[in-house]
Amino acid sequence: MLLLIPGPVQTRPEVRSAMAVDIAPWDRDFFPESIAIREKVRDVAGGLPDRHVALPLQGAGHFIVEAAIRTFVPAAAGKLLVVSNGAYADRMERLAREAGRDVAILRIPDTRGVTPGEVAAALAADSAVTHLGIVYSETGSGIVNDVVAVGEVVRAAGRRMIVDGVSAFGALPFDLKAQPEVDAMVFTSNKCIEGLPGMGFAVCPIERVEASAGNAASWSFDLSDVYATGRRAGFGSFRFTPPVQALHAFGVALDIFIAEGGQPARLARYCENCRILYEGCVKLGLVPYLDWKEQGPIIALFHQPKHPGFKLLEFVEALKRRGVLISNFHNTVEPTFRIGCIGHVGPDEIRFAVGAIRGALEDLGVRQKNAA
Ligand SMILES: *Cc1c(COP(=O)(O)O)cnc(C)c1O
Repeated sequence: MLLLIPGPVQTRPEVRSAMAVDIAPWDRDFFPESIAIREKVRDVAGGLPDRHVALPLQGAGHFIVEAAIRTFVPAAAGKLLVVSNGAYADRMERLAREAGRDVAILRIPDTRGVTPGEVAAALAADSAVTHLGIVYSETGSGIVNDVVAVGEVVRAAGRRMIVDGVSAFGALPFDLKAQPEVDAMVFTSNKCIEGLPGMGFAVCPIERVEASAGNAASWSFDLSDVYATGRRAGFGSFRFTPPVQALHAFGVALDIFIAEGGQPARLARYCENCRILYEGCVKLGLVPYLDWKEQGPIIALFHQPKHPGFKLLEFVEALKRRGVLISNFHNTVEPTFRIGCIGHVGPDEIRFAVGAIRGALEDLGVRQKNAA
C-alpha cells in the first residue's frame, strides 16, 4: 500500500526494521546514540553547540506544541498571538487556552500565507502579546507561512516566536542561529524526516530554556525540566520511558536524511512530488484548493467533485483497492480531499497515485472511462 498522508508517512524498510530490537533506554550503551540524535537534530535546525539545544519529548506533535507553549509563554504575564490560517493553528490556539494562557488570534484565510505586514500591525496593536505562534506548513490546507520574513518583524517588535514546524522540519529551510527571536522550533519523528511516530523535539536557545524554569506548571510538559535533567543526568537520559524503538529508528531515518543531502534534497523531492500531483489532478479535471503560487510542497488539497457519485469515504476505499491510502477526512470548511506529498515516495509513486485517482473516480462513476 502506498501511504500518501501527511504523517505518519511512508517509511523505508530499513527504518521500520530498526524497530525490531529490545533496548533499555537508561542503559549506558544507549546514551551515546541518544546524544548523537539530539546533536544532529540541533545541527539540522541550524543550532550552535554552545547556544542551542534539541529537547526530545515523548508523544505526538500536539504534546511538543503544548510543551513549547507552557514552557515559554509565561502563565501570568504572557500572551500568545496565534496566526490562524488553518486547522493546526486552531489546535495551537486550543492547546494554549487549555493551558490557561492568554491567547489572541490573527485570522487569515487558509488559502494563503500571512504577510509580515499583517503580523507587524497585529503586534503593534497589542502590546500585551509576548509571543507569536505560527504554523510553518499548515497541514490543514497546504499553505506555507514565511517564517523568516515574519520572524524579522517579530524580532523588530521585540517579541518572541514559537514555530510549529511539525510538517515542515527537514523539508522547508530553517536556520535557528539566524532567527534569535525563536524560542522553539518543534517537530516530530514521523513527518519530513521520515521516521516512525512517537517522539517530538523542540530546538531552542539554551538561554531561553534556562530562563523559563517554573513556567510550565506541568512536570510532563516542561522543556526546561527536560533540559535540567540533561544537565544533571546526561543528555542521553530521559525522565520517563521514551518510545525507545521509535527513537532508534528515527536515528536511522535521520542518517538517511543527512546522507541524501539533507533539507535541500528533501525539499526538491517533495516539490517534484507536489508538482506532479497538482498537475496530474488538474488534468483529471479536479480543482485544487490553493492557487499554485500558494501551494506548499507538503500536502495538496482538491475540492471534492460536485458529482452526486462522489462520497469521500467511497473514494478513499476505491483508492485503497488500487493501492493508495489517503486521509478519509478533511479539515477545511469546504469539502476537500487531501493527499500528502511527503514520506519515502518519489515521482514514480506520485504518477502511480494520479493513475489510481483517475481509476477511483471512474469506479465511482464521477469520471467517464477513457475521457481525456
Ligand atoms: C501533524 C501535525 C501536528 C501534530 O499532529 P499529531 O497528530 O499530534 O502528531 C501538529 N502540527 C502540524 C502542522 C502537523 O502537521
